[in-house]
Amino acid sequence: MHRQWNWPCYSCGICWSVRPESRRLFFALWPDAQLRVRLAGLSALAARAGGRRVDLANLHLTLAFLGSVDAARQACLCAQAAAIRCPRFTVRLDRFGYWRSSRVLWLGCSSDPPLGLQTLRARINDGLHRCGMVPEPGPFEAHVSLVRKVDRGPRERTVEAVNWPVERFCLVQSHTLPGGAVYDLLDCWPLTP
Ligand code: ATP
Ligand code: MG
Repeated sequence: MHRQWNWPCYSCGICWSVRPESRRLFFALWPDAQLRVRLAGLSALAARAGGRRVDLANLHLTLAFLGSVDAARQACLCAQAAAIRCPRFTVRLDRFGYWRSSRVLWLGCSSDPPLGLQTLRARINDGLHRCGMVPEPGPFEAHVSLVRKVDRGPRERTVEAVNWPVERFCLVQSHTLPGGAVYDLLDCWPLTP
């Protein structure tokens, strides 16, 4: 435990170990092992047309990308996250999508994301505002990146639906390394049953 830094801790377990430097952070839905294997099966299918599959351990759904965050703001974000009361929900992932600009092939929703997901995002964005941060502008596309460096979209967009029962959301640190990003799960908070 690094108690020499006098950051407010609130109820967040990681805050005492937060060092004063900035970290690249994002809030995400983090699949359990079983779902991860299911998603990896779809990434194998999607990668038939080429590209580099996202590592099994890296599969996730980003809720809010925060960029570089200093220690004081990390503590504030943890406190805000711990105070969120949001009901559980299920995300139905049932179609492939493709972004030409980033050459990413992803798995997403053919219909609007569930209300619970939209509510959770709104609560997270409220927390960002309270911590003096500005959420990323623009529309939100709920998605799990499956394959990178893909040159064209998939022939078949519809896939057998993956239903993801979401019981928690997480704060994740991203280390951008030459071989690709490595993520550390810093903490997770439960949704209400
Ligand atoms: P790399 O950048 O090394 O290719 P990565 O994109 O997975 O890997 P990060 O850039 O740290 O790693 O991004 C972490 C997560 O946040 C990913 O899901 C990424 O798609 C998402 N993300 C990154 N930048 C933004 C952004 N500007 N707006 C929205 N989401 C973003
Ligand atoms: Mg990136």
